[in-house]
Amino acid sequence: MSRTPRYDVVVVGAGVIGLVTAWRTAQRGLGVAVADPAPASGTTHVSAGMLTPVTEAAYGEEELLTFTLASHRRWPAFAAELERTTGLPSGYRARGTLEVAFDGDDMAVLDELLEFRRGLGLEVERLTGREIRRLEPMLAPSVRGGLHAPDDGSADPRLLTRALMAASEQAGVAFVRRRVVEVTTEAGTATGVRLAAGGQDTGLTGNGDTARPEPDTGEELAAEKVVLAAGVGTAALAGLPVRAVKGQILRLRTPVEFVTRTIRGLVRGTPVYVVPRDDGEIALGATQEDLADTRVTAGGVWQLLRDAHDLLPGITELELAETAAGLRPCAPDNFPVLGASSIPGLYAATGHFRHGVLLAPATGEVMAEALVTGRLPESAACFAADRFPIRQEERTCG
Ligand SMILES: Cc1cc2nc3c(=O)[nH]c(=O)nc-3n(C[C@H](O)[C@H](O)[C@H](O)COP(=O)(O)OP(=O)(O)OC[C@H]3O[C@@H](n4cnc5c(N)ncnc54)[C@H](O)[C@@H]3O)c2cc1C
Repeated sequence: MSRTPRYDVVVVGAGVIGLVTAWRTAQRGLGVAVADPAPASGTTHVSAGMLTPVTEAAYGEEELLTFTLASHRRWPAFAAELERTTGLPSGYRARGTLEVAFDGDDMAVLDELLEFRRGLGLEVERLTGREIRRLEPMLAPSVRGGLHAPDDGSADPRLLTRALMAASEQAGVAFVRRRVVEVTTEAGTATGVRLAAGGQDTGLTGNGDTARPEPDTGEELAAEKVVLAAGVGTAALAGLPVRAVKGQILRLRTPVEFVTRTIRGLVRGTPVYVVPRDDGEIALGATQEDLADTRVTAGGVWQLLRDAHDLLPGITELELAETAAGLRPCAPDNFPVLGASSIPGLYAATGHFRHGVLLAPATGEVMAEALVTGRLPESAACFAADRFPIRQEERTCG
């Protein structure tokens, strides 16, 4: 088996979480490589990109709320730094979010959530149907009312990952376009990763690495520390209990502005949302299914369009540009899985479930801190990866 030079850190997976971890860690002076056969093509590629800690605050998830709010506060500076560094947009929009009710029962649910969120000290305002339509005239006259979270915003995950890749390359991160088949260990300590045999798109790219020959079959990328950030692929590599929660989502296009801010709706108890972007795209999502396939179903598309049409009747006039499904990486307690695992040298950055884009700034910071100092910051203590033992027999995948 051939060995490439030893990196300080190899990150497995180039979704938003692997990329932000690589970027922030390289900025702190470590030598970082990212291995992924198809960077930015996983769940992040289909994600809606809402940055909505307030409208997603849920009962029993107060520790997560503290983390999502902290990450959300970092978003303006994070987006500005990315854009300044790379000259590329992140699609960040700070336009607020409306949460609207289709019928009286839906409004009763929102009223309960209003009390809960106010009890947590979150900024949220109750609006009548008329007040809501003044903000978003395309909403149906029948919409009962809703809540306004002025600080909740959005980003465009596809623009974001493009900018993160550019920023990472500028910071010296090497990209290895290969699948990882195994975390290698010596005396129980992670020593790197073994790469799958190459396809066409297998070369090393990134600052300083472009001249290096392509890796051979079976090559190991040796590293002091390995970070598993492979989304739902993480479980197969490490036996961490990360399961997939499928989400179907549509992308519509409009030549003129249709709505100005993110609208999350409750329609007969079922959530639906639309997220507008600056370029005329509107993400319409999302189903939540305990399945691990990425098939788009007629039923999924129908449910999303039916519920969105009840709130925004004009939506079915828009061009349907794309249908897609992604797999949210979810731990048994629904919380992220961050920092050192129970195997020395092996780290995880996964389990971001419905919040990977929102949590990108905070995740990048805490992972870089953990990799540089060996200590996971207190702000992420509840999410420490070693709360789940790694099942040794499931440590590899073929
Ligand atoms: C429909 C939908 C809507 C969503 N909306 C939002 C939202 O509005 N706001 C929000 O914050 N979050 C949202 N999410 C959740 C968010 O998208 C995820 O939490 C986030 O994308 C997870 O990022 P990741 O980097 O962990 O995983 P991924 O983006 O899946 O990246 C993992 C990467 O690992 C690579 N990989 C896998 N296995 C291997 C291997 N063996 N070797 C090498 N590489 C490997 C893959 O190729 C992939 O590129 C949504 C998710 C879905 C499905």
